[in-house]
Amino acid sequence: MSNTKMSQVASAKKALKEVFGFDQFRASQQPIIENVLDGINTLAIMPTGGGKSLCYQLPGIVFDGLTLVISPLISLMQDQVRQLKELNVSACVLNSALSSQEYQHNLDSIVSGHTKLLFLAPETVLQSSIISVLKNVDVACIAIDEAHCISEWGHEFRPEYRQLHQLVEHFAKAVVIALTATATPRVREDIKRQLLISEDAEFMASFDRPNLYIEVAHKEKPYQQAKAFINKHPKQSGIIYCQSRSGVDELATKLQNDGYKALPYHAGLNSQKRSDYQHKFVYDDVDIIVATIAFGMGINKPDVRYVLHYDLPKNIEGYYQQIGRAGRDGLNADCLLLFGYGDTGKIRYFIDQMRDAQQKRLATMHLGHMLALAESQECRRIVLLQYFGETNISQDCQHCDNCLNEGKEASDLTVHAQKFLSCIHRTGQRFGASYIADVLRGSNAEKILQNQHNLLSTYNIGRELTKKQWMTLSRQLIAKGLIEQEEIYGGLRLTQLAGDVLKGKAPFLALLQQASAVGSAKTKAT
Ligand code: ADP
Ligand code: ZN
Repeated sequence: MSNTKMSQVASAKKALKEVFGFDQFRASQQPIIENVLDGINTLAIMPTGGGKSLCYQLPGIVFDGLTLVISPLISLMQDQVRQLKELNVSACVLNSALSSQEYQHNLDSIVSGHTKLLFLAPETVLQSSIISVLKNVDVACIAIDEAHCISEWGHEFRPEYRQLHQLVEHFAKAVVIALTATATPRVREDIKRQLLISEDAEFMASFDRPNLYIEVAHKEKPYQQAKAFINKHPKQSGIIYCQSRSGVDELATKLQNDGYKALPYHAGLNSQKRSDYQHKFVYDDVDIIVATIAFGMGINKPDVRYVLHYDLPKNIEGYYQQIGRAGRDGLNADCLLLFGYGDTGKIRYFIDQMRDAQQKRLATMHLGHMLALAESQECRRIVLLQYFGETNISQDCQHCDNCLNEGKEASDLTVHAQKFLSCIHRTGQRFGASYIADVLRGSNAEKILQNQHNLLSTYNIGRELTKKQWMTLSRQLIAKGLIEQEEIYGGLRLTQLAGDVLKGKAPFLALLQQASAVGSAKTKAT
């Protein structure tokens, strides 16, 4: 370790105590902060509440030069600036919402070297006027928050983020730290490639939040189910997520009429109302916020005791981020997802409306993963963590519905799995689940006849399951890693794990009840 680094680490520890009042780093923070202080571009992946801000705020304080913090949301930036100012750290924002006086004042503070941390939206920082100002300043560090927005493979792609690699080129001497709470392996690759971060400079804190109880229930009488769930947590703070603004308004009103202290929150409300309602929630004047996904980013309320998903989320990243807002104080919190096939149909309908073929495929893939989680009978935590690339967890959590519900025995679906897998193999590992299911069920679709797949030994050997049941099975096979889905065209391929099941060396245990529920559910979805 170099002397300068050692002294920087020492000043970082000192600042941790003196500025932030914390006794020690969290286990995941230390290596990240050391790396950044050492001038190594770094990718930090931590769950919501994991303590990402400190990973750039602290180097920002220790470095002599300026630290740029790129963040997508103005409200989030303002929050952080306020918090830093309370800690006597010189921080400011540049954005178009400032008065010209404030803007000039902030510029002066930046140019004079007084400001330590400067918060900007990606589109602001890339303006040529801003770049030329910053070129005259010693930019020591570039922190890119919500870095998953850089990747088209993520669930929140933002085109402005795509340009951020230019920043890295403009300020080649500055060290880059990218941070995100939600990044699948594919998205992580994208971030590293675009921001010149090497393989060994990626740090991933565990995504496990053991204090969250995770449950999925069939959506039958959602309002009754919601009330029963809320009533388990009287006078405690909770968030209810709905898919649409009208759904939010409707549910909030119903709850109010039934005597609950609930308020709505969505992007259709004016900003005054939004900040008022958010404030009331944070300060416990209301118990419940009924919201669209617009609610939550940057809200630091530690004692949210439950999160209810009234509708099916569109993807696992969003779902995990939303339930992550519960129990940030480390105490137990409950998360319930109401899962109905009608919601699946609605999401599919949205996807069908998408113009961009690539976006369409991605959205379909994301929905497939979400369904696999909802339909799974395995430990939910294992399925979730596997999705985020944590594959080293083998023990069931005993803190989710599937772990605790002993009645729901998984059935032996080995023979079905074998049929499905061998049909993938025989059709050349190029086709999607729907096609495979059609072959198994002996469909006379033109494409199947053209490909002469009606001549295969796996043709028409699977009429005992409905098409939907085969689709469910395929998601289970993906979730358990026996097959992979090619990202562009959705074709299925076998993985090494498939071999054991195909050869009869390992059983495939999964749900049959749920599959038949799929079959009998009345839904337009196909
Ligand atoms: P994230 O941005 O990852 O969601 P934050 O940076 O908002 O998380 O941090 C979450 C909470 O953890 C904050 O209240 C923060 O003050 C606290 N925190 C962060 N680092 C530490 C630490 N080393 N010791 C104690 N508390 C910490
Ligand atoms: Zn579990």
